[in-house]
Amino acid sequence: MGDRPSSPPASLDSDRGDDSIVELIPLIRRVVASRVRDYQLVDDLVQETLARVMAARHRIERDTLAPYAVTTARNLVFAVGQGTDRARRNAHLLVDGATDPPPDHDLLREEETSVVGAALARLSPAERDVLLAHEVEGTGTAELAARRETSPGAIAAQLNRTRAKLRVEYLLADAAVVPPTDRCRPVLFALSAGDRRRQRELDTAGHLLECDCCLALSLTLFDRRPPTAVDDEARVRVTVDADVVTARQKGREIAARAGFTPTELTVIATAISEIARNIVKFAQRGEIVIRMVDEPGRCGITVVARDSGPGIADVPDAMQDGYSTYRGLGLGLPGARRLMDEFDVASEVGKGTTVTMAKWRNRPPVKPPNTTGKGPAQ
Ligand SMILES: [Zn+2]
Repeated sequence: MGDRPSSPPASLDSDRGDDSIVELIPLIRRVVASRVRDYQLVDDLVQETLARVMAARHRIERDTLAPYAVTTARNLVFAVGQGTDRARRNAHLLVDGATDPPPDHDLLREEETSVVGAALARLSPAERDVLLAHEVEGTGTAELAARRETSPGAIAAQLNRTRAKLRVEYLLADAAVVPPTDRCRPVLFALSAGDRRRQRELDTAGHLLECDCCLALSLTLFDRRPPTAVDDEARVRVTVDADVVTARQKGREIAARAGFTPTELTVIATAISEIARNIVKFAQRGEIVIRMVDEPGRCGITVVARDSGPGIADVPDAMQDGYSTYRGLGLGLPGARRLMDEFDVASEVGKGTTVTMAKWRNRPPVKPPNTTGKGPAQ
């Protein structure tokens, strides 16, 4: 198990499709992780960077891909700090599950950033300033303490409380959950911070017995990679932007159980995001089923996305490189196809579309995709 064929060295000269982009993922992760501590936020930013690099790859020389990726990652990390105001404006969309977004809004593109931004917007300005100065700009606790005329220890304690709070707010925004009682947030903060005294004061145990919302969130808080709660199969109804996040997370969980590497998890989550976004954008309603496959001879995951939308009149045309299904982020179906090992689209105009894709572990080194760069040869 766990053994993978040794991946090819970083010789990016040969024409091997998007492998060169996938090989950038560890670099992107390093850049993001050196500036952001929360690993879920790191995942989100790495994935968003990957999507943007793929969307731009036709405009970039191969040997400038890496600098481009690093710049994009840095800008996204920066945007998390800057995006607070936009996120505040969009926060209601995340919480209510918007059904009627304004036509030109960029929420699709900013979906991950918005979840983070919505969480950041729940912090007080002082909490946010100190956290961002420390986590994003890299300012040390000693310097922050000097600026605020307090001690480094007090700053460190404040940072811990703020991180605990942000974890809770991130989960709430991500799950689009509004806590049912006034006690929920204090209880969740105390749990997240591991503050036993405060937990006793609040009778958190009693609260968890009667509050399903906090019970569910506390399980995620204690183990944010739920090992037991994950089934081998997930069905996600997809109608609004928040469902894109859910589909991506379920895919990541199941793929993690199937034993994929962190880099592969990013690839899979990105592909699922793309087909889920397509459903929200064009079909309005659909369903994504993600399954772990563990059989003799093959192990991996399959993803089936069905919608009852208008269908695609010319599937080969829609699979053309450069065919952009929606403006702004040119990944779409061709992008998802490049990321996965198997990919199939069946569509009937007026009835709907089914996308089937699979990713396998331990597969032999990639053979070059259609090197003509034209559409699929089917
Ligand atoms: Zn509660």
